[in-house]
Amino acid sequence: MSTPDVSVIIPVYNEEEGLQSLFDRLYPALDKLQTSYEIVFINDGSRDRSAAILREQFQKRPDVTRVILFNGNFGQHKAIMAGFEHCRGKKIVTLDADLQNPPEDIGNLLAKMDEGYDYVGSIRRQRSDSWWRHVASRAMNHLRERITHIKMTDQGCMLRAYSRDIIDTINQCNEVNTFIPALAYSFARHPTEITVGHEERAAGESKYSLYSLIRLNFDLMTGFSIVPLQMFSMIGIAVSIFSAFFVVFLMIRRLIVGPEAEGMFTLFAIAFFLIGIALFGIGLLGEYVGRIYQEVRHRPRYLIQAILEQKE
Ligand code: UDP
Ligand code: MG
Repeated sequence: MSTPDVSVIIPVYNEEEGLQSLFDRLYPALDKLQTSYEIVFINDGSRDRSAAILREQFQKRPDVTRVILFNGNFGQHKAIMAGFEHCRGKKIVTLDADLQNPPEDIGNLLAKMDEGYDYVGSIRRQRSDSWWRHVASRAMNHLRERITHIKMTDQGCMLRAYSRDIIDTINQCNEVNTFIPALAYSFARHPTEITVGHEERAAGESKYSLYSLIRLNFDLMTGFSIVPLQMFSMIGIAVSIFSAFFVVFLMIRRLIVGPEAEGMFTLFAIAFFLIGIALFGIGLLGEYVGRIYQEVRHRPRYLIQAILEQKE
């Protein structure tokens, strides 16, 4: 297993119910491709039996299986980062453990890479997620494309293939909070996208709550652009100009109409609106400052407890 042709990276977090059916489909699908491959599972600190199941699977197929066991839960994207650092393949495929994307589609991704693309993204043929995730991700897609200039039809799908060059570049990045498909896209020379299947989660439940989805999108926006900060300067300028006119208007009105003390609640409404904008601005600033703080601490991004792999 010196340098296999393909590495498949799979982060696993509390997936005990689904892992066996993943193995049952993934290994035959890869065997059928007739290339050398390795599968790198990263156990992201699961609190169920996932680690034990991965250990068993490693014993069954040690020639093509490698398992990285984390010390705790560090998040999907950090798990994938660890996989990138330890994989050896020439083409690297990321896949979720929940079988929402069919492993049988890996062959199509690799075929596309052989056509000369170095980044093959994916679009879910038919999304099977709850409706609010549909609406939210459509809105986020638009916003992201305007702000970061990263063109992805479907940012939520992890079944993607990357060339060795891209992975080597990613491995040089020491970002703490990042979004892998976007980071890879920014290094790609010749990206493309294909459609892949998408199914409802067969077992277990989604690990992303509304809160962690919002956090993930902040990673995406602030990690790849400072346009949000600049937008705030723009809003500040606009409000200042507007209120300058307003002051002039009130002065003239004072001369013509005389003193007035009505419209108290209009005043409140305007004040609250502006306070809201200001608070959001401070929060946004905090997002960037917090990220700078995390970067400068230089703590290890993840801690590896053990790596199960066959000795050369
Ligand atoms: N995952 C992980 N660490 C986490 C959360 C998720 O490794 O903290 C893995 C999870 O096991 C799965 C993949 O990331 O393989 C995607 O998670 P999920 O299916 O819950 O996300 P969704 O499909 O709902 O976006
Ligand atoms: Mg999923």
